[in-house]
Amino acid sequence: MPLSELTPDELTDLHARLTKDYDDLVARGLKLDLTRGKPASAQLDLSNELLTLPGEGEFRAADGTDCRNYGGLTGLPEIREIFAELLNVPVAQLLAGDNSSLSIMHDTLVWCLLKGPVGGSPWAGSPVKFICPVPGYDRHFALCEQYGIEMIPVPLGDHGPDLDAVRDLLADPSVKGMWVVPTYANPTGAVYDEAVARELVGMTAAAPDFRIFWDNAYAVHHLTDAESPALDVLGMAAEAGNPDRVFVFASTSKITFAGAGVSFFGGSPATIAWYQQHQSKRSIGPDKVNHLRHVRYLKDADGVRALMARHRALIAPKFAQVDAILTERLGGYDTATWTHPIGGYFISLDVADGTASRVVALAKAAGIAMTGAGAAFPYGKDPRDRNIRIAPTFPSPDDVAGAIEGLTTCVLLAATEQALA
Ligand code: PLP
Repeated sequence: MPLSELTPDELTDLHARLTKDYDDLVARGLKLDLTRGKPASAQLDLSNELLTLPGEGEFRAADGTDCRNYGGLTGLPEIREIFAELLNVPVAQLLAGDNSSLSIMHDTLVWCLLKGPVGGSPWAGSPVKFICPVPGYDRHFALCEQYGIEMIPVPLGDHGPDLDAVRDLLADPSVKGMWVVPTYANPTGAVYDEAVARELVGMTAAAPDFRIFWDNAYAVHHLTDAESPALDVLGMAAEAGNPDRVFVFASTSKITFAGAGVSFFGGSPATIAWYQQHQSKRSIGPDKVNHLRHVRYLKDADGVRALMARHRALIAPKFAQVDAILTERLGGYDTATWTHPIGGYFISLDVADGTASRVVALAKAAGIAMTGAGAAFPYGKDPRDRNIRIAPTFPSPDDVAGAIEGLTTCVLLAATEQALA
């Protein structure tokens, strides 16, 4: 029965029962961790072949390039071709880099601040604001905070952000950027649809150098057969007359090795030239041996798709388990809602307003580590204190089940405490 329909006596009884459940939970001395959006070791094992590739004596790319040497700023054409198809970006407009797309986002942001993007002057020196769909990725927000960029949250729905709010904000010339995770967003799993993408690339912006940081980190990370294809966002931006508006980012961090994958940067031809001009001062060339071993291992876009199907087989059951436990334990009380992602790495749980911090604290005291409440919001501040990010990929299935069962006790205990207060 919904908590709101319980009589005071029923609520008191329920609270007493939950307090006992919680004491039992604490007594079990659990040590579980649902904080990390990392691949499990079984997922990393799928790509162990990379550890012996390209193999002794193998260092030549298809065009004869010696991958061991300096140079090749664009990255190997072969790896760019594979991911151009998957990311729906023309090969000539996609560069392959080192292991972290977050580093590329960092560099791109810093170059915008210090040098200005194509057709713009340096952003630094005047107030700079970014539109941040929420809940969102904490490290995007940390980058903004690091460089004094003011973040303006905008609610994110299942198919994209509140476009009216975005349109209003774009009337402010100090709004220079916007974070977008278009496919299976972290943490809600939202998938931007084509109409939303078209609006975003075409909207009038007071800042002529407004940029969308299109972070397609989960482009191929499907959890069901309803696979959301990558949108041709650069083509759409060009058609809309704003060819330089979008920076595309991606990586193989959650395809091959999280710490030793390949990152990608995409943009208009002018943006690619701009990026390379700055990049050429920063590095004499990316890790092409890593590109080569990825090419030998993945082979082609279908090779990536086949690998992602194997990831899915390992992690989709964990997502299903979380959903089943949340439904069974919380379903009847009408006090929490959660997302049902069809891809990506996270489930976003909204508990009773004003209780997320308490839930996370209760869980911690019971040995269940959750990402801090508010982490998915700019400055770590969830105005409703209700959002909790669940990352089910890393722990074993048994640990995921134990942690979520314990978490539901904390969710209900915090909700009944509040209702009785
Ligand atoms: N972008 C998003 C949306 C992520 O969730 C993550 C990791 O969790 C990253 C980027 C990190 O990417 P990389 O490993 O390529 O630096």
